[in-house]
Amino acid sequence: MGGQVSIPEGVHVVVVGGGFAGIAAARQLKSRGVPFTLIDMKEAFHHNLAALRASVQPGFAQRTFIPFAKTFGSSFVQGRVENVDPDRQTVILQGGREIQYSHLILCTGTDGPFPGKFNAVSSLEASVQKYEELVEQIQAADSVLVIGGGSTGVEMAAEIKTEYPEKKVVLIHSRIGLADPELTSSVRQQAKDVLLEKGVELLLGQKVSRMSELQLNKTQKNMKVSTERGETLTTDLIICCTGLKINSAAYSLGLKDSIDDSGALRVNQYLQVHGFSNIFAVGDCSGTQKPKTAYVAGLQAAVAVTNILNSLRGAELKVYSTGNVTMLLAMGRNDGVGQFNGYRLPRFLVTLGKSRDLLLWKSWKEMQQTQP
Ligand SMILES: Cc1cc2nc3c(=O)[nH]c(=O)nc-3n(C[C@H](O)[C@H](O)[C@H](O)COP(=O)(O)OP(=O)(O)OC[C@H]3O[C@@H](n4cnc5c(N)ncnc54)[C@H](O)[C@@H]3O)c2cc1C
Repeated sequence: MGGQVSIPEGVHVVVVGGGFAGIAAARQLKSRGVPFTLIDMKEAFHHNLAALRASVQPGFAQRTFIPFAKTFGSSFVQGRVENVDPDRQTVILQGGREIQYSHLILCTGTDGPFPGKFNAVSSLEASVQKYEELVEQIQAADSVLVIGGGSTGVEMAAEIKTEYPEKKVVLIHSRIGLADPELTSSVRQQAKDVLLEKGVELLLGQKVSRMSELQLNKTQKNMKVSTERGETLTTDLIICCTGLKINSAAYSLGLKDSIDDSGALRVNQYLQVHGFSNIFAVGDCSGTQKPKTAYVAGLQAAVAVTNILNSLRGAELKVYSTGNVTMLLAMGRNDGVGQFNGYRLPRFLVTLGKSRDLLLWKSWKEMQQTQP
């Protein structure tokens, strides 16, 4: 990772967003002795790779939240960033507090429906409680409808059926192919095979109608859900796993000329935001090629920190390039599918490498804390 370097006076890096990209950036700034502030609306880092296990296993959620302050001390500030003013090199938090930067790393990621995502101004205790409440709702349901068969929906359906094999689990997906389109077709087929082996019922090429009227994450016996083809499904609980959106609220005003239609920040090969040499965007909110993963977010954070240090030294900047796709899907704690560098992996390897512990050990190690 490199040792401490001599940092000119006045350098202060602000990192907005403490997801996988943000903690990787903050950790590296800390180890290089660069003054920084990490800002996140939550009190704790959310290891959301394990969010779906936390939704089915009682007592698991506390392992998925790691307090920022214990790792970063007073360099961590809890709050929601509402604007960036590039002329004054300042970020503005809800309530009016302003923090000045010499360099800015934006890593605000994506938002989406709970339980896959949990982006709210929240204490650690309240965050854990939210997942424990969903576990109770799932336990009270005899049948669950999962909406959306991207990677999150596939993992959600597999988690429920693994933990509660007696429950009826239906996965409805608007397309025929399941999981991320960036995965090879054989891995996507394998994901489908595992779901069918576990007994998940698949409704592919179908959509539910009147989504916004559905009551999500709350068990209520025999709810009726209509599909756009006019069929009626009956279920006790509905969990939505669709519709990830880039979190652009922090910068959509101040950097409006640097964002694309999806809200992502346009970046050059050095991950500098279009029009600025001292602002970087990494992770899900940067307009780099797909796939957007935690793994990619970590790689990009390292490039952004290196480029800040190189620019201070007058050294050449490092180019970020997207490699072949590496992505693992946990199909419950006892199965998994995925690919490494574009090659399909055996199921047992994914199970050992990801599904059992969901890489929790890695985040706790990186945050230099002991897992409860
Ligand atoms: C259920 C699920 C499972 C996944 N599994 C995998 C996997 O196995 N492997 C993998 O590599 N990837 C996986 N991914 C994808 C991965 O989670 C994302 O690519 C990764 O989280 C991106 O990291 P990030 O730091 O860019 O953004 P995020 O993780 O989205 O973090 C953004 C952070 O910014 C904060 N924030 C946003 N706006 C503001 C604001 N205005 N003010 C203050 N704070 C703000 C949020 O609170 C959040 O903490 C999964 C995703 C989901 C939903």
